[in-house]
Amino acid sequence: MNKWDVEELVKNTEKEVQEQLNLADEICDFNSNKVLEAFQRNGVKESDFGSTTGYGYDDIGREKIERVFSDVLHAEDCIVRSQFISGTHALTVALFAFLRPGDTMLSINGKPYDTLDEVIGIAENKSSLKSFGVKYEQIELINNDFDYDKIQERLKESKVKLIEIQRSKGYALRKSISLEKVEKVIKKIREIDKDVIIMIDNCYCEFVGKKEPLEVGADVIVGSLIKNLGGGIAPNGAYIAGRKDLVELAAERLTVPGEGKGVGPTLGINKLFLQGIFLAPSVVASSVKTAILTSKVLEKLGYKVEPRFDEERVDIVQTIEFGEAEKLIKYCQGVQKGSPVDSDSLPEPCETPGYQDPIIMASGSFTQGSSIEFSCDGPLRPPFVGFQQGALTYSYGKLGLIKAVSELLKE
Ligand SMILES: *Cc1c(COP(=O)(O)O)cnc(C)c1O
Repeated sequence: MNKWDVEELVKNTEKEVQEQLNLADEICDFNSNKVLEAFQRNGVKESDFGSTTGYGYDDIGREKIERVFSDVLHAEDCIVRSQFISGTHALTVALFAFLRPGDTMLSINGKPYDTLDEVIGIAENKSSLKSFGVKYEQIELINNDFDYDKIQERLKESKVKLIEIQRSKGYALRKSISLEKVEKVIKKIREIDKDVIIMIDNCYCEFVGKKEPLEVGADVIVGSLIKNLGGGIAPNGAYIAGRKDLVELAAERLTVPGEGKGVGPTLGINKLFLQGIFLAPSVVASSVKTAILTSKVLEKLGYKVEPRFDEERVDIVQTIEFGEAEKLIKYCQGVQKGSPVDSDSLPEPCETPGYQDPIIMASGSFTQGSSIEFSCDGPLRPPFVGFQQGALTYSYGKLGLIKAVSELLKE
């Protein structure tokens, strides 16, 4: 197929997924209203764009950003900081804040995201939770759903301090977990244990639907600002939101016991965080629409895709099973060529810190590693699945898709 045929294919396919695209726009309207109301309710002002240096005492803008995020996420409190290096860092801070030697952490969706292996101690590391005497257990999913009975049995056995739920699939070959399932499992957990901390890795899921996990009973959620809530504008950072006492513990782990949320210079970032969350509903919708179109186009070309175009979406991730290393590599190279930045460099699989297999990563993004921007990556292991996500606008997503498919089909 030449480039013109691919354009034709994408154009025709777009008509067939119109209903799904419209739904994404409707969710965007709903979430935009939520954000706008949060800005107005908290009286966001131009003076909030100011910033602090040094210790970062009395940063009015920072405090306002955290109130806006709290409102949007239905949190009692939250900490939104550029001092978090990444989503993994925020998850790490949260785990080290909530868990003490002798405590048990339980993951109920099988193994968590690859970069947490050394944090937890699943892979050996001298600074892991395990090295501090924190115990780790996991319960596998069955048929893409929680093993409700096994979870309840385990909770009856002995005290678990923290349960982690990761909604998005990471590099696992499973479906991402809907909020309905999260709500159901939280009810089952609470039948047995009223105080186990329920923590959600919410990466990639914010604003994909109309509700967030704290609205269905989670205690604390964690996410990255170079994903959904940064709206493609935040240059780095992450957030932890939820119960006030837990946010305080996390803040005292990130900064200093006794200082917590009261310190942390913003160094000019406040306006970017506010603009980021302001644009996030629309940028997430662009990502979801690009994913829907990708799903249908690649399915037509004979690839196994997850989710299918008409399935309910939980996150912005679209997986494509290529079956061969070479096809995954070609597609990712096409994604890179279809990007605005570094479109002339060619991604190759390589060893990446925190990951066990070589990874190929295509991300021609304004922010390094940003995956709310059009990007595709995947570990080089059978069945050679590409994990595509992001698109700052739907038009750019479509153009990127055309380039990626053209590369894939090139002889
Ligand atoms: C991206 C991601 C993370 C980690 O985020 P980084 O910012 O890349 O460290 C954690 N969990 C899930 C499910 C993710 O998708």
